[in-house]
This record gives sequence, structure tokens and C-alpha cells, in this order.
Amino acid sequence: MEKHEVVLGIDLGTTFSAIAVVNQHGSPIIIPNCEGGRTTPSVIHFYDSDGCLVGEEAVRMVVVDPSNVARFVKRSMGESDFSMEFFRRPYTPQELSALILRKLKNDAEQFLGHQVRDAVISVPAYFNSPQRGATAEAGALAGLNVLSIINEPTAAAIAYGVDRQGPPKTILVFDLGGGTFDVTVMDIRPGSLKTLASDGNAELGGKDWDDRLLNYVSEHFIERFGDDPRDDPNPYQELYERILEAKLALSSRSNVRIPVNYRGHWMFVDVDEPLFRDLCQDLLDQCRDTCNIVMEKAGIGWEKLDEILLVGGATRMPMIRNMISDMSGLSPIAGVNPDECIAMGAALAGIFRHRQNMLPSLLEEALPTSITGSASADSGLPKDSSSPAMPLARLEIVDITTHPLGVLVLDADLQEHVVNLIPEGTPLPCEKSGRFAYAYDNMTTVCVQVAEGHGSTRDEVVVVGEVILDHLPPRVRGTPVEVLYRYTRNQLLEVYVTDIQTSNTQRATINLKGSLPVHRFEKAKAMVSRAKMDPLAP
Ligand code: ADP
Ligand code: MG
Repeated sequence: MEKHEVVLGIDLGTTFSAIAVVNQHGSPIIIPNCEGGRTTPSVIHFYDSDGCLVGEEAVRMVVVDPSNVARFVKRSMGESDFSMEFFRRPYTPQELSALILRKLKNDAEQFLGHQVRDAVISVPAYFNSPQRGATAEAGALAGLNVLSIINEPTAAAIAYGVDRQGPPKTILVFDLGGGTFDVTVMDIRPGSLKTLASDGNAELGGKDWDDRLLNYVSEHFIERFGDDPRDDPNPYQELYERILEAKLALSSRSNVRIPVNYRGHWMFVDVDEPLFRDLCQDLLDQCRDTCNIVMEKAGIGWEKLDEILLVGGATRMPMIRNMISDMSGLSPIAGVNPDECIAMGAALAGIFRHRQNMLPSLLEEALPTSITGSASADSGLPKDSSSPAMPLARLEIVDITTHPLGVLVLDADLQEHVVNLIPEGTPLPCEKSGRFAYAYDNMTTVCVQVAEGHGSTRDEVVVVGEVILDHLPPRVRGTPVEVLYRYTRNQLLEVYVTDIQTSNTQRATINLKGSLPVHRFEKAKAMVSRAKMDPLAP
């Protein structure tokens, strides 16, 4: 494969990240990290003011030096006022994610023997624009050229279905990771992947299962000895690591014995799988409810579903598999590695996209939904035995918006409310416009505030950006202004505000490059590239 075709597929997870590339035979392969692991913990340990370790080595420091460890960063992506301080320096979620991405990029370059810049990074389908923007920004801070942000279920479906032949199928992608949960229903047929509906919860994941077990065990300890092992950071982390081991064991064993020691006392707490399931019943209910909502949004009954694709490490828990089987009457597709398929699919998408950029004349159809390439994926995933794999010339991907997009306006009584322009579930790319009017006489500036999310008031939505059209001639109340939203296939929103009478237009791309102002971006980029990532290096 020529150098310019190397595109990293990056699954930037809450707890684990993975990287893949498409090899010279057109097959996606996972790139092992420098420690030999196929996934890398998304954990950072700061050992001084400009040095950090990422991955397995950082995990080892969780117990030793918990106050200098950053983890679960993805849960805070897109929160503009969030930061974590290490050695008296505050870090934004983008900067922390960029440090993880730099480690992944370094490891990939070491493995491949040359530099790589292009990448496709995956995000949960349910991420909103600020979260997508922050992810793209983290990539840029790490020195990556982010070709696109791809939805995780779409990436998983590409890895699973890119070379599928045979009849069309409706599949449900159930992705339960460390900190996020996504359910997506897709129509999958040779050369085409269409998202029908998607929903999720950015605050539900394997970590919640950890916490249930942790609380149960801690309460037993308190009952016996009166002390709470969660009160001190170090014993807490030590216990947390034991809880994690116990949870993993309960995926393949029916019971575990968890030792707890704190302040000179110790005891065993026994937990079996049914008890663990009881402790997590409400979490399972949340998963079930989300599945039902998505099926309803897709407008299909369970009997119309052909297959279930499980993604995310937490889907290894028997309680999850059983719940899905009970609900759908289907067994999940076997043989798919839930930790690896997203990175592989992102790498495949990167090759298709790269070729589309390199060879526009190859496109059979007008942009923006078709992407062209000739990779034949051998993802190690099962193939339909009735349908031999064939190299694909073309793959059409249709994603949908997962949040409604609107404009915050003033009504006749000068009360603020949201007018929707693009409903949730609209296939991408899409373009919608609306006419609005001056709220006052003699306005010379129009400020369009872009609202994302369900709801009709400012408090219920997220204002993801604003576009200001100024230096307008003063005119009467009611003067028309057109607002056009264009949602690109790269999952990013372009906004155009036009004064109809003068044809003056102002354009902005919301969060395309994230929310950091230029000077802070440059400073952050310098920090990420200068950070020492090897304490033994001179
Ligand atoms: P993310 O992409 O959000 O980082 P992953 O897909 O890597 O998440 O899944 C990580 C989660 O899966 C963690 O909560 C981890 O504890 C859990 N997990 C991994 N393997 C198992 C297992 N065998 N049994 C139960 N949970 C598991
Ligand atoms: Mg994941």
C-alpha cells in the first residue's frame, strides 16, 4: 500500500482505545500498542508538570498515585467549563484526549515504521455537536488530520458488513462500553449501510456496573467494621481494581469472592451472578427501555429484526446477552470482537474516504453520501456462508442526525423559544432553511443562536454556537432573514445567515474545529506535542 493511503481508524473509548489500519490486502488490522496490547486503556498518569504516561503504565499508577491520574475523560468531552488539574495546570477534556491520541499515534508510527497523519475517529452516535467538535479538536491537538468523525455503530457495522452479500438485513447494534451506551438500528445490504434510528445515554456504561458492585461490597464492610473503604483515595482505588477483576470474572464464572481490607480489618464478600444482576436491575431496565425507544423510532417490531451486533466490552456480561436474547428472540452474532470492530470499521471508512478525496472522478454518484473504494475487508468477522465475500467498489453510508437542530428566536412577546429546523432522525447530509424576522425596529446586527436537543426553551437545549451578521442597514421590525443549516456527511453543521434584502451572508461551521480560541489551541497543541511520554528518556 502506498504511504498516502494509510489512515488510522481510532476508537477513542471512555475506558479503552484501539487503533487499526487497512493493510496492503485491503483488510483492517488492529495495531498493537508498544506494550503489546491490542487495546490501550484511556488512562493518563501525570508524573510531573510536563510528563505523563498513557495506557497500561498509567493504570498501574491508579493505586499508587490516584490524584495524578485522569480517566473517563470521554464523559466530559464537549463540556466547555470542565477541567482537571495536575501539577497546578488545568487540562481540558480535549487536551487530555489529545494526550491519549498522541500515544496511539506514536505507537502506530512505531509499528508501521513511518509517520501517519490522517485519521478517522469514532464517537458514540448520540454525541452532540460540541462533543463531536471537541473530539475533532483533540485529534488536531495531537497532530492528526481528522478526515472525519464517524459514529461508533456505523464503524462497527462497516467492519461487520462491508463485504456482505446476500439479502438486505435489519440489524441492531448494541454498544455498551465503559461509560457510554448506544443503540442503533441499521439497514445493511451489499454496498450500503443506512441508519434507521439511534438513541443512547452518554452516562451509562460498564463503570455503573462497577459502582454497583463497589457500593454493595463497601456497605458490607461498613456494616461489619463501621469504616467506609471508599473514604481514602488509595484504599478506594485498590478496592476498585479488585471490583473490576470480580466483574470480569463474573462474565465467565458464576461466583466470586472479593477480599476487602481497610484500616487493619479485612473480610471476604461473596457475590454470585444472580445477585450481581439484581444489583444492576435498574441499569438493565434503562438498556431495555432505550432499545424499545429505538425500535419504535425505527418503526419496526422486534420480529422484523434479523441480527444483533454486540459492541463494547460490557456486552460480555451474561446479564446483557440474556436480556437482549429475551427481548429480541435472537442470539447475538457470534465471533465479533466487541473491542476491536469499531477501530477496524473506522480504518475502512478512512480508506474509502481517502480514495474519494484522492480520486473524485471515480465517484459514480454525486456526493455527499457515496464513498468509493475497493477494499475487501477481512475483519476476522463471520461472513454469511451463503454469500462469498466480494471486493466492494462502492459503499454508501447514510447516517442520521441524533438530536434536533433549531434556532433560538424571540416571539411577538419577546419571549425566547426554539424553532426547529432539522428534526432528529434526518438522513445526512441534509439542508434545511427557515425565514425569521427582525424582532425590533432598526436592528443592525442579527445573532443566530444554534440550538441542539429536544425542548423549546434555552434551558432545555444546548446552544452549540452562534453566527453574527452585522453592519446591516437599520430597518423595520419584520425585516426577513434566512437561516440555512447544512449538516454534512462528516457529521458537522454549517450555518448560513442571509439578510434577504441585501443578500449579505455570514457563514460559520459549528464546532468543526472545536471550541478553543486560536491562541489557546496553539498553546494546547504545543503542550501536547512537548509533553514527555517516557520518564526514562533523556
Ligand atoms: P469504551 O469504548 O467505552 O472504552 P469498551 O468497549 O472498551 O469501552 O468496554 C469497556 C468496558 O467493558 C469496561 O467497563 C470494562 O470493565 C468492560 N468489560 C470488558 N471486558 C469485560 C468482561 N469480560 N465482562 C464484563 N465487563 C467487561
Ligand atoms: Mg467503545
